Amino acid sequence: MVQAEAVIDLDAIRANTAYLAERAAAHSAATMAVVKADGYGHGALPSARAALAGGATWLGVSTVAEALELRSAGIDAPMLSWLNAPGTAFTPAITAGVDLGVPSMRVLDEVIAAAKAADRTARVHLKIDTGLGRSGATPADWPDLVTAAAKATAEGTVEVIGVWSHFACADTPGHPSIAAQLAAFSEALAVAERHGVKPQVRHLANSPATLTLPQAYYDLVRPGVSVYGLSPIPDCAAAEALRPAMTLRGRVLVAKRVPAGHGVSYGHTYHTSAPTTLAVVPLGYADGIPRHASSVAPLLLGGARRTIAGRVCMDQFVVDVGDDPVADGDEAILFGPGDHGEPTADEWAEAAGTINYEIVTRIGARVPRTYVGAGA
Ligand SMILES: *Cc1c(COP(=O)(O)O)cnc(C)c1O
Repeated sequence: MVQAEAVIDLDAIRANTAYLAERAAAHSAATMAVVKADGYGHGALPSARAALAGGATWLGVSTVAEALELRSAGIDAPMLSWLNAPGTAFTPAITAGVDLGVPSMRVLDEVIAAAKAADRTARVHLKIDTGLGRSGATPADWPDLVTAAAKATAEGTVEVIGVWSHFACADTPGHPSIAAQLAAFSEALAVAERHGVKPQVRHLANSPATLTLPQAYYDLVRPGVSVYGLSPIPDCAAAEALRPAMTLRGRVLVAKRVPAGHGVSYGHTYHTSAPTTLAVVPLGYADGIPRHASSVAPLLLGGARRTIAGRVCMDQFVVDVGDDPVADGDEAILFGPGDHGEPTADEWAEAAGTINYEIVTRIGARVPRTYVGAGA
């Protein structure tokens, strides 16, 4: 092992995707694996390959740049990019056969102009805001957007591949907004149809909906965090089959004896209560270890669970291991699937006051990803 690494289990990504895709297929829906943000920190390209091997037939990313990186690496699966600022160069995406999310008239106009420049038909997915209050056309603006898209379709500049939306509270099963969004989506589809827009795929379900809400599957589900084996919902029975794909570990830089009453790390927020061994682990907030994990987050070191002692620094943190025989170079496992007694990303999220999504996604570029499993 190098001094610190994130080990990514591609078999887990493949198996998680297969599990999700089977749930979707049972309701005649296909699966789009979401690999934005470098595959939630797992590496977009290896994650995409593993997800496709597991039965996903679509990939989802935020930006055109993310999509083009996958295309350059030879990924030719249908791919949707949905988060692009005004002024984005859409022509390379259209040329590369990347589908584009269209949340507004402004983006539609830019995509039409880019399609004309490329002398190609742009593949678009029109987005309705069914209640999240983020991007997407409001129900008030929707008739204009679908009318303009129908006109562009007739002119040959765009093809409406999809109509889609995104949930606000699908991670809280039974939340009243879920039914409201389902109803708003159904209404938006009816409006689109009345204006002559006939999408090939209608899609709405993120991971929580893929795990709990078959009536939201429509033609395509868009799971992200669950592909990587993390549950978006605490104590979710359907998520028990998932396996976390990332293990984060580091080697002890130095382990040394210090006397009682020794201050530890910046600000001396921790003091040793007895003569003890301090072990320094080379991962810090520059690597995505939350500073909020200071003095609270767990790890496995020297065969036992410990808690970080004092402040997390930019590049390192300290652990008080008492009289246990921890030595320079020993392995510290911060989180993983839990097989060896190591904490999980869920426990880190709990300790640091955040969500498992953020724990894995923020692991920094300095931490090498090591791939294991078929396809590694
Ligand atoms: C990130 C994202 C998803 C996946 O969400 P998860 O909760 O990780 O499953 C799906 N759709 C859109 C539009 C997203 O931005």
